[in-house]
Amino acid sequence: MATLEKTMAKLSIQDLHLEGHRVFMRVDFNVPLTEDGRVSDDTRIRETLPTIVYALRKGARLILASHLGRPKGKFNAKMSLKPVAERLRMLLDEKLGRSCNVGFAPDCIGLGAEEMAHKLEKGQTLLLENLRFHAEEEANDEDFSRKLAALADLYVNDAFGSAHRAHASTAGITKFIGKSAAGLLMQKELEYLGKATTNPEKPFVAIIGGAKVSDKIDVIRNLLTKVNALLIGGAMAYTFLKAQGARVGKSLVEEDKLELAKSLLQDAQSKNVRLLLPSDNVVAEKIDASAKTQIIKTEQGIPDYLMGLDIGPEAIEAFSREIVGAKTIVWNGPMGVFEVAPFARGTMKIAEAIAANSGATSIVGGGDSVAAVHQSGLADKITHISTGGGASLEFLEGKKLPGVEALTDK
Ligand code: AMP
Repeated sequence: MATLEKTMAKLSIQDLHLEGHRVFMRVDFNVPLTEDGRVSDDTRIRETLPTIVYALRKGARLILASHLGRPKGKFNAKMSLKPVAERLRMLLDEKLGRSCNVGFAPDCIGLGAEEMAHKLEKGQTLLLENLRFHAEEEANDEDFSRKLAALADLYVNDAFGSAHRAHASTAGITKFIGKSAAGLLMQKELEYLGKATTNPEKPFVAIIGGAKVSDKIDVIRNLLTKVNALLIGGAMAYTFLKAQGARVGKSLVEEDKLELAKSLLQDAQSKNVRLLLPSDNVVAEKIDASAKTQIIKTEQGIPDYLMGLDIGPEAIEAFSREIVGAKTIVWNGPMGVFEVAPFARGTMKIAEAIAANSGATSIVGGGDSVAAVHQSGLADKITHISTGGGASLEFLEGKKLPGVEALTDK
């Protein structure tokens, strides 16, 4: 697997002296809970565990903060982080081989939280209650930021998935606290996505899919300035195909984006980027697991009563040929309606092709493509699976993420 030189412009947790310091660490513990309030999937806790363990081993007094769900600025028992404290304690016990005490502060600010934070000993952990129980968190309120900052003297952000939002715990707090650094998970995200967008090893191939062109216009526009080939699948391919004059039947098309699709196609041509659209399609009358499917070549045209729901075998082959030769691969968005078995093959085959290229740096982002990689059992063959859907898209659009900008420069 390709290696990566360190390209970070921001401080990393590894640059901080943590021993004895109270460290406010923004994590992403936005995990699903069962009806009776248990953590049903602890992936997000596990992903940030290396940063937590690193800080504890270095003797930090650790204060963890996260949001969970959308409580809209009010206390809501169903979105309490209390069950997360319990799961974290179990995971830490396992990892550190000792009994770990994870305290829980019933509010993320105020005298109670301050007292608990100040009483922490070296190597101990305190989890704060859901930040979004206060509307001031999402408003990036200055006074609230100050109160969060009062709990600690150093700041670490490991919540890449929230870095595209300027909230009190991701941005505001950094103005009132000592040094601010990226956690290990955040650092990994920034290094891989940063390298792909600034200094990718060529050939660089991007695969973009999903429902709407409108969601990914800026990603496509920005990637066209960087890639050698852009492979477009999913429903959004039909807006491009229609813009080229193809018959697409009742496939999903954004009529108001046809002109834009045309200009992106021209843009690709003028930049010498190979832009591939599916040359054949899996079509059906409706999205249904028992629907009768057939393969129709794009040049033949899709009849009016049918819709394109996956890329066809010829397209899989053409896309895979590009992927085989790539040195950098970025994938965001499924190639078809992969949730429904008859239309999942294109997405799965693309996941396989990416996984098979062990000489490339491969980066997969976006909920659906990440799910497809996990479903196919190939996750460990991907160089980097991004933990932030929205954040990784904004990064690929070339935007600056407020949660990253707020960190201290190296
Ligand atoms: P996005 O959130 O934009 O990445 O889009 C993901 C959704 O696009 C998934 O739920 C897919 O089922 C859907 N999708 C992908 N290809 C198609 C298609 N050809 N027709 C309709 N929906 C599609």
